[in-house]
Amino acid sequence: MTRASRTPISAATAARQLVLAGRWRTLPTRDTEAKIRMALRSRHPWVLPLLPTDAMDALVALGQPGGRCGWCHAPAGLPRNEVTSAILGDGCTSCRVAWEAAAAAVRERPHVRQLVAAGFRPEAAANLRTPEQIADYTRRLRVLDRAKLPPRPIPEPAYYQRRPWPAGAVR
Ligand SMILES: [Zn+2]
Repeated sequence: MTRASRTPISAATAARQLVLAGRWRTLPTRDTEAKIRMALRSRHPWVLPLLPTDAMDALVALGQPGGRCGWCHAPAGLPRNEVTSAILGDGCTSCRVAWEAAAAAVRERPHVRQLVAAGFRPEAAANLRTPEQIADYTRRLRVLDRAKLPPRPIPEPAYYQRRPWPAGAVR
């Protein structure tokens, strides 16, 4: 490998191959990260200086036993960037569904905030997706606003309600 082709991405790719090959597992130390660092230092000494901190977290996740994808083992909040994706790949279906849901929530946050600022209640705002839904909801709110409540029957004063005893009634 030439010096020019030694980039964080190529370092991540080389480190991924080393972790997947698995020979580092037998190194005489207990800690996964220490084993991986030790193996990288002896097999690809150029790699470690190029790897950002996130890459090390990704490599440790990739080195976890179990058939699931490395992203499933990654610490919460590990950023998905070129380097971590070069190590951990595209993620399994459940990881991708979770990312899509998180991305949708982030995309909709300004939209929901705008609607709340415009006077919608937060629960209603979160359910309004399209301009048509918003227009329809706005129209219904206006109709409700305009609708006057029917006048309440005014209760008769108590003294009108006491009918005189009919004539001839036995008391
Ligand atoms: Zn996964």
